[in-house]
Amino acid sequence: MEVDYEKTGLKVGLEIHQQINTSAKLFCNCRPELFKEEPEITFLRRLRPTQSELGQTDPAAFFEFQKGVRILYEANRATSCLVEMDEEPPHPLNREAVETVLVAALMMKCKPVDEVHVMRKTVIDGSNTTGFQRTCVIALDGEIRVGEKTVPIQHASLEEDAARKTAEEGNTIHYRIDRLGIPLIEIATGPVIKSPKEAEEVSLAIGNILRATGKAIRGLGTIRQDINISLPKGALIEIKGVQELELIALAVEYEVNRQLNLIKICEELREHGLNEESLKEDFVDITDVFRQTKCKVIRKALDKNQQVLAVKLPKFKGFLKRELAPNIRLGTELADRARFWGRVGGIFHTDEMPAYGVTAEEIEHLRNRLEMKEQDAVVFVADSPENARDALRAVVERGREALRGVPEETRAPNADGTTRFMRPRPGAARMYPETDIPPMQIMEEHIKQVNLHLPELPEQKLQRFAEEYGLNEKLAKQVLNSEYGELFEVIVKESKVQATTVAAFMTETMKALKRDGVPIEKVTQTQIRDIFNCVGSGQVTKEAIPEIVSWLGQHGGCTIQEATKSIGLKMLSKEELNEIVESTIQRNKTLIEERGTNAYGALIGIVMKEVRGKANAAVVSELVKQKLASFLTSN
Ligand SMILES: [Zn+2]
Repeated sequence: MEVDYEKTGLKVGLEIHQQINTSAKLFCNCRPELFKEEPEITFLRRLRPTQSELGQTDPAAFFEFQKGVRILYEANRATSCLVEMDEEPPHPLNREAVETVLVAALMMKCKPVDEVHVMRKTVIDGSNTTGFQRTCVIALDGEIRVGEKTVPIQHASLEEDAARKTAEEGNTIHYRIDRLGIPLIEIATGPVIKSPKEAEEVSLAIGNILRATGKAIRGLGTIRQDINISLPKGALIEIKGVQELELIALAVEYEVNRQLNLIKICEELREHGLNEESLKEDFVDITDVFRQTKCKVIRKALDKNQQVLAVKLPKFKGFLKRELAPNIRLGTELADRARFWGRVGGIFHTDEMPAYGVTAEEIEHLRNRLEMKEQDAVVFVADSPENARDALRAVVERGREALRGVPEETRAPNADGTTRFMRPRPGAARMYPETDIPPMQIMEEHIKQVNLHLPELPEQKLQRFAEEYGLNEKLAKQVLNSEYGELFEVIVKESKVQATTVAAFMTETMKALKRDGVPIEKVTQTQIRDIFNCVGSGQVTKEAIPEIVSWLGQHGGCTIQEATKSIGLKMLSKEELNEIVESTIQRNKTLIEERGTNAYGALIGIVMKEVRGKANAAVVSELVKQKLASFLTSN
């Protein structure tokens, strides 16, 4: 659907989390690194929200608690100690991390706080061994310029990263605590962003500032963005943990569509005379309808002596298959809820029937059993009686919410930019002071010092790229916004390769390779520097760069020399090149006699076809010109 974003009253705010590269973690001396091997240590904990949290009405926390979820933590000694295991109090704040946030904050004109106080933020999913995440505000109330717009920065904070989920089996979740305690910068903007495109631009601008500190860790998962989206008649939705910049605009666009569609559905349902009381928790056991069923999911449940439970949603016919965003229907939203609260695999509903092996006869039977009218819809699940009931309760609740409009939720991103229900939005008062860590003062004098040595701002750099390297504004911007923004100058200075060649590589070539499925993220910055040094010294031609990058991406840990050797990209010697040009001229005598010096273009084409990637184009051109001239004079 085409949307005029100005008219919708859309408001978007971003929270950007960037891992920073310090020599130790935030509250201990462990290395901020992840490990791939089998864990040296594992320990089991039961999820147990503390008293103060249960006092608040955080339905998700209480639910997780009731579920009796167990967490298996995985660790090794190099990346975690007793602090991550919550067996030893945290050490004082890592000064290097505070300093990095301070630099970024001052670049965004934020005002540093006098004293840094570490707070605890309730975490309900077991991703922190303590049951809370430590966070502290370093500076407040700044702003950045993005194009013509001034975007307020609410705060720049320092947080500890959480453990990462590695597996989930039944009631046990596996978390690896190597990531726990890695410092994160958190930057929160005011809710002033008004379109998907603008959301992407603001995110880019903040990312550029964070990278300019020189301390941003790169790679997938090192930057995570939370997007808060609200529409006047819709709701505030938080999309948590978007990792790819390219998905930000899309996620906003889809969320606006989702909300507009839900608002429309709400209006239509109400026009049908429905209200929240129309939906009742009257669950009907329809197991007998499916005694002979060919539906595999239901068959499996019945074999385990489980049941099929159904609920009627009056006048909902057609609404459940209504698309809210690509492949997300109202039915999908009911299913998400059923999975979350009922631990079921999914739901069936009559808008998509007959399907999945459920026959028209079975549906007819079901209609009679539930005394369905033409405009009604029915949702049914096959699971244990307890799970089935919880699932249908959640379905009815979501149905009632559809009559109110858009429910407030925290949602998780899918790979295509759409989102799925993650959990209800947590209550507001989730912060309380961390008493184990003394406050840290930030002195006036110190701020002055940092201010004197702030890194160049991205907009200044943009201007300099244009002036010093002759890049046009568009290309300069693309370089700066690319992942290799910092590398550009280093390469141009050390390799002496033309700036526009390096710039085109960092923007177009890398993008094209990524599109073709080359794992470019596996090619390190050092390797890229090596490639350009080889180009600069004439060992490799610039035409060969894509092939080398592609080979290195597929062969992790190899050198440029191994790459060129393996793909047969040895540069031709002067003698070899001479020979090729000479023989090309001999083979094309007739052509040269006919066209004279005009044969040059055709000859170059023939020679380059043979030597591409193995010889410098300028050298070839010069050589062909010479040989052609001497051939013509001697004949
Ligand atoms: Zn540690």
